[in-house]
This record gives sequence, structure tokens and C-alpha cells, in this order.
Amino acid sequence: MTNEELLYQRVLEISREMGVEIKFKDESKFMKALSIPLLVINRKFMTHFTTAIGKSVYYPTREWLSSDYVRAAKILSHELIHVHDSKMLGSMRFSLSYLLPQILSLAAFFALSGNLWWLICLVFALPVPSYERTLSESRGYAVTRLVTRWLTGKNPSDEWLIGNFVGPNYYFMWPFRDDIIRLIEEQEKHLMKIERPSFKLLVQIQSACISYNEERK
Ligand SMILES: [Zn+2]
Repeated sequence: MTNEELLYQRVLEISREMGVEIKFKDESKFMKALSIPLLVINRKFMTHFTTAIGKSVYYPTREWLSSDYVRAAKILSHELIHVHDSKMLGSMRFSLSYLLPQILSLAAFFALSGNLWWLICLVFALPVPSYERTLSESRGYAVTRLVTRWLTGKNPSDEWLIGNFVGPNYYFMWPFRDDIIRLIEEQEKHLMKIERPSFKLLVQIQSACISYNEERK
């Protein structure tokens, strides 16, 4: 086993302790169905993005995972904070708040009752900023940033981080560029506080990164 694969296996072990199941989008009927509306917004949803729903983490394909184990370990670490948050908040509440406000557009279906005023709800299908999704992803990208730093000694570029918030990857969730790095930095500090429930998870991930760096020497 290469050092890279060993790093992934260590993060995988942490995820198993949390009850996480690894799945693959190309093997999942559920993901294929979900991708139909999402592909309008994010054409790479099935092929380039990893998604966590409840305790399942879906990588695009098995080949995608094994083609870069360091990337897979980094992404799994990011997804684990979503799994952690989903556990803390309750899976249904977490998912619904993550999809706000766009999920409110579904109320437009009530127009089928004959009351066309419900169609006003379609306004929520527009890329209205999502504070809840931004908060959740600022925690995810805080982990991505920490792990990148633990592995390489450097932060990922601010421009790349900002692009994920202002662009289509998460449906233009936060257009206010100037806030984003500050939000991520705040979450970094918050997640790493010893009294926070996330602390133990992050220390386990950090330890996997330290082992990887030592074994590479
Ligand atoms: Zn995320």
C-alpha cells in the first residue's frame, strides 16, 4: 500500500467509527435521479463532486477515488464535518436548512390546487443567497483548509475557496466575496476549540496527516 493510500485508509477508519458508508454515484440510482435537476446548475455533479447525505458519502466513481488518494482523504475529511453536523442537528433538519431558501420553491406545486398565488414561491428557485448553506460549507472548507495545511504546510488559494461560494458549485450560495475567507477562518478556530464536539474528530484527522508526513520522510 502506498503512503497516499494509507492516509486515505486512516481517514476512512475515522469515518467508519462515525458509521459512514462510502458509496459511488455511478452505482447509485438515487444519485442518478438526484443529478437530473442538479445537472442544470452543476454539470460536474456526477463526475467531479463528492456528496454526503446523512451517513453516506458518495464519490463519483471507484476509479476517481483511487486515482488520487490524497484528494480522496481531503474530501472525505471535509464531508465528515457535514456528517458530524448532520448528527448534531438531526439529518432532516440539517438537509432542509442546507437546501434553504431554494427548497421553498417546491411550495409552487400547491398552485395545482387552483390557487396560482403559490407560483410566487418560484422566486426561491433563483440563486438567492443561502446563509445556512454558506455556514455549513464554511465549516466544510475550514476542514479542507486545515487538512491542506497539515499535509503541505500551505493554505489552498483564497481565490479557489471564494470561487466555491460565489460560483455555481453550490448554486451561488454567497456572492459577498469579502466575507468568505473571514467566515472560513472563524470556523477553523471554532472547530478546533477543545470544548467543541468537532475537536476530537479534527485531532484524529490531524494525526492521520502527521503520520503521512512522517512516513514520507
Ligand atoms: Zn461541503
